[in-house]
Amino acid sequence: FEDIRKTDSEIADAIVKEMERQDSHLELIASENWVSKAVMAAMGSPLTNKYAEGYPGRRYYGGCDYVDVVENLARERAKKLFGCEYVNVQPHSGAQANMAVFFAMLKPGDKILGMNLDQGGHLTHGSPVNFSGNYFQTSFYGVNEEGFIDYEEVRRIALEEKPKLIIAGASAYARKIDFKKFREIADEAGSYLMVDMAHIAGLVAAGLHQSPIPYADVVTTTTHKTLRGPRGGMILCNQEAADKFNFNKAVFPGIQGGPLEHVIAGKAVCFKEALQPEFREYQEQIVKNAQALARALMERGVKLVSGGTDNHLMLVDLSQEEVTGKELEKRLDAAHITCNKNTIPNDARGPMVTSGVRLGTPAVTTRGLKEEDMEHIAEAISLVIKSEDNIGKAQEIVAQLTKKYPLI
Ligand code: PLP
Repeated sequence: FEDIRKTDSEIADAIVKEMERQDSHLELIASENWVSKAVMAAMGSPLTNKYAEGYPGRRYYGGCDYVDVVENLARERAKKLFGCEYVNVQPHSGAQANMAVFFAMLKPGDKILGMNLDQGGHLTHGSPVNFSGNYFQTSFYGVNEEGFIDYEEVRRIALEEKPKLIIAGASAYARKIDFKKFREIADEAGSYLMVDMAHIAGLVAAGLHQSPIPYADVVTTTTHKTLRGPRGGMILCNQEAADKFNFNKAVFPGIQGGPLEHVIAGKAVCFKEALQPEFREYQEQIVKNAQALARALMERGVKLVSGGTDNHLMLVDLSQEEVTGKELEKRLDAAHITCNKNTIPNDARGPMVTSGVRLGTPAVTTRGLKEEDMEHIAEAISLVIKSEDNIGKAQEIVAQLTKKYPLI
C-alpha cells in the first residue's frame, strides 16, 4: 500500500477512505462480500503483467508455463467444487459469462425466456436495456401473489413461446429455485436450459441449495458473491455440452481477448478455500443470519416479499409504507448500513424509486456477525423505516456492531 501512496496520493487517499467506510458501515448488499487476504494478494500479484490469449497448453503468447499452472488449478478445483466436467474460468464478469453462453447457444433473433428484472431477474436475462434484450426475442416469467416463482406459469409461457433457451436464476429472489422443474419444463418446450447461479453459488458449493449442474445444459456464475472470490465470471457444464456449443471459443476469441490471470489466480485460491470444511460452516451461518434477520424484521412489523427467505437475501416490501426504497436506502446509508433499493413484484413506484430494499447477509457473516447481532440490525432498520428522526439512534446501534467486529 505504501507503494501506492508514494506514486499516487489521490488514489491512496480514496482507498483509505473506502477502507474506513467499509469498516464503519454494515454491508448488507446481497451481492457483496469480503475476500480473504490470500485472494486479494493473488489479484495484486505479478500475474497481472502476463498476456495469455488462448487456453492452457494452447496460447498465442510465449512464457505461459506458470499462468497455465494457475488456470489449470482454477479449472480443476472448480470442477471438484461443483462436480462438473468442464469449466471456463476466463469470463471477466457474470455478464460476460452470460454473453458468451448466449452467443454459443443462440443466433441473433432467437427466443429466450427469463425471469423479469422487476420480479428478481438479472439485466442479462433479457432486459431491453441490455444486449440480451436487444439481440434476442424475449419473454418473461415472474412470481405469484405470494412472491414465489410460479412454475405452472413458467410452463405455460414456455409452451406458448417455445424459446430456444430458458434462463433460471435471479438477483433478488429469496426462495429456493427448483432446477429439476425447470429441466422438465425445458424438455417439454424443446428448450435449452441455462442456470445463472451467481447469487447462490456459495450455497450450491456447500450443498445448501440444490445444484443446477445435473439439470442445466449450462451453468453460469459470478465468483464474487456468496462464493467469496474475486470479481469475475465462470461457465460450467458437462463435456458433451462443452463440445457441442464450444463455450471456449465463445469466450475467446468470441467476446474477450487476454484472460485476467491475476483474477484467475484469485478464483483458484477462492475455490481452494471453498473446498475446506469451514466454508460449509460459513455458508450455513449466512443462511442462519438471513433467517434471523428476516424473523427479527417481521417481529417488528416489517413486511418481506414471500414472507421470509431460504437463502442469503430478503426483499423488504415497503408498498404499505410511506418511505420509498430510494429514501430508505438513503436513510440507511446515513445510519451506516449499506444496501440497495430494489423493485418488488408489481412495484407501483418504478425502478428509480422502488418500493423495496434488498438485504443480504454474506458480507456481515464474513465479518463475524451471528444471529444475536441480526436482532440489533433489524432494530436499526425498523427504526429508520419508521422515521428519519431515528437515524442517529440507528447509527449508534451500528457503531456498537462495527466496533465489536472490526475490519481494520
Ligand atoms: N447474474 C446474476 C444473477 C447477477 O446477480 C449478476 C450481478 O449482479 C450478474 C449475473 C452479473 O455479474 P457481473 O456484475 O459480474 O457482470
